[in-house]
Amino acid sequence: MVEPVAQSTSSQSQEKIGITILGSTGSIGESTLDVLSRHTDRFHIVALTANSNSKKLFQQIQHYRPQYAVLCDSAAAAVLRAEVKTAGLPTEVLEGVQSICDVAALESVGYVMAAIVGGAGLLPTLAAVDAGKRILLANKEALVMSGNLFMQAVADSGAELLPIDSEHNAIFQCMPAVTQRLGEQKSVQSLTQLGIARILLTGSGGPFRQTPIEELASVTPNQACAHPNWSMGRKISVDSATMMNKGLELIEACWLFDARPDQVEVVLHPQSVVHSMVEYVDGSVVAQLGHPDMRTPIAYGLGWPDRIESGLPLLDLIKMGSLHFEEPNLARFPALRLSREAIELGKSASIVLNAANEVAVAAFLNEQIRFTAITEVIERVLASSEWILPDSIDTVLAVDEDTRRRAAELVAALARR
Ligand code: NAD
Ligand code: MG
Repeated sequence: MVEPVAQSTSSQSQEKIGITILGSTGSIGESTLDVLSRHTDRFHIVALTANSNSKKLFQQIQHYRPQYAVLCDSAAAAVLRAEVKTAGLPTEVLEGVQSICDVAALESVGYVMAAIVGGAGLLPTLAAVDAGKRILLANKEALVMSGNLFMQAVADSGAELLPIDSEHNAIFQCMPAVTQRLGEQKSVQSLTQLGIARILLTGSGGPFRQTPIEELASVTPNQACAHPNWSMGRKISVDSATMMNKGLELIEACWLFDARPDQVEVVLHPQSVVHSMVEYVDGSVVAQLGHPDMRTPIAYGLGWPDRIESGLPLLDLIKMGSLHFEEPNLARFPALRLSREAIELGKSASIVLNAANEVAVAAFLNEQIRFTAITEVIERVLASSEWILPDSIDTVLAVDEDTRRRAAELVAALARR
């Protein structure tokens, strides 16, 4: 791949910030394109990447004219390349994981939206971190898997880390400006030193917050993906239904904000308007409110430290009337307990938790196992694991691979039942 020469000939495009979107065909990817299309004077799209959806990526190429488009899947990339050629478009079509990493690290790119779903996002996101980009982090699984290695890489490269997950974006906004360079050297006491008593991580409780527990074994993938407030990809939608999403977010919050697990409390808030809160020792609770729409945190991450428009209308609190908060029921949502145990255990436990969850969720979406078997698989894989301290990304990937194999065996056994 050759670095673009054309970029440097236009003084106008030089002033614009080049963007790569990892996972542009997904829910976050499309919301990012929507926000970017309102700020064409400020940003230009250098590269779009996806797994195998050549049809949607072709439409995006026609509309946004990126310099590069990358598909992980070679066969799909060949189809896309032919279409782009026939249409006479100048976009260069690349393929494979390495090319996705390459377009995340291009010299002409300033910001990278990390919105691949799952562990597949780890290497491309780290490529952007190592290249010192501004990382707009939606891909929470990457951070859950690699924890301190990820944060150390951010500190070493001087990358700017902006949380896009709405809760973490909210927490970031509610914190004193002094902490707003995540990943810089901080002591374990840093939250205490900042006068922060705890982080209140809100979650809606998903579609099954009030479903009788005995009915959960027979819910379908479509029911699990019908989130009451948010429109999202299918994997994170199932994670929201089990509340594993909140568990992963608890771990994400610990790494991002250098918090101990006991400093992060999960609060159910069915309206999804308060996106999280920070409570200070003087009794002040600072919250961030907004529509349940990812364009707000995306616009915040793109504009920071400025504020730019997201395309959303103003929030009508009077129409909303009331906001409700309650304690999560751990019997209904065992994933919350398992996640807290994993982050408290440390070592490789969060890698195992995440990998087992990805395998189990995929099996549920394929209708191989029941909804309630998702957390059963995770609990059993965790119980049969030995812990090691991951000291490199290769070790992280090895634990991930081994866990996926063990989880797949368990899925096969459960599927036969
Ligand atoms: P999605 O399923 O809608 O999109 C996933 C994107 O990743 C697609 O573009 C897909 O092509 C790409 N992808 C998948 N597998 C890949 C692979 N092996 N190699 C390369 N690309 C691959 O998912 P989403 O809902 O947009 O979520 C993306 C990430 O953002 C997830 O980590 C999720 O937890 C996080 N997130 C999403 C939301 C939301 O509202 N959707 C909110 C907060 C955080
Ligand atoms: Mg979230």
